[in-house]
Amino acid sequence: MEYGLSISQLLVSHSKAIEKAQDICLRVTFHGKATASTQVYKHMAALPHMHERIAIVSVIDWLDSSPYNQIKEVISRLRQHNLIMTLTQPAPPVLLSACRPHLRVDPIFLLPMDNWLRSRLCRWRMGWLPARPSPCRCGHPHASQNHLLSYLSIADRLKVPLDAKPKPLDYVLNQLLAIKRPPSSAAQHNRVYFRWASWWSQICSIMLEIDSIYQPDEEFSLAASDTQGMALLEWLLPIYFKPVAPAIRSTLYDYL
Ligand SMILES: [Zn+2]
Repeated sequence: MEYGLSISQLLVSHSKAIEKAQDICLRVTFHGKATASTQVYKHMAALPHMHERIAIVSVIDWLDSSPYNQIKEVISRLRQHNLIMTLTQPAPPVLLSACRPHLRVDPIFLLPMDNWLRSRLCRWRMGWLPARPSPCRCGHPHASQNHLLSYLSIADRLKVPLDAKPKPLDYVLNQLLAIKRPPSSAAQHNRVYFRWASWWSQICSIMLEIDSIYQPDEEFSLAASDTQGMALLEWLLPIYFKPVAPAIRSTLYDYL
């Protein structure tokens, strides 16, 4: 792709056409409708827009003799600048503004969790949960994200301020960056584990409740109704709390 871009003389219309082609491919990956926005998905996956790819190719041509790290830094700054410009325009995209303002793959894609929860979190981020104006079980005609935040007392349940930015649930989801990998020090590990032990089960419950409100007639399977989120918590569990693997234990006992 980059090779093709570097040897082509593209007009603005070409740039738009290949942007559209990339969007069509992305919609295939997440089963989106023909008009579904790809903006949040691209941001979550840290995928560059096509116009950014074109700009990157031209920057690389200028920096042909520069060290790799310098090229990487310039590209990163260029993309971060584009993101900040988008987020600081007079009417920034609401869903994009709820994500973290950094160019990194969203931990929702990476951290251990079951597919039901990952799907719900992705759909929440992309504005698909709830996806269309649908009534709430409290009688409110529109179960919007703002209504659900209030109706389900999400700030109270997560023990964060009501005005936590961008929104209480997204504020906590954006903290997932802090646990990209298990912390190295024991004190830090404990702090991260106990904070998420409290947050994560609440998030699992909240996402199940929202999905139930959005699909009131759906009968969720046992796996789809899980609210413990053990996959992440076990991954986060400090090493000295983890049970010794049976195979290793029996080997040690045999040796003794
Ligand atoms: Zn309601």
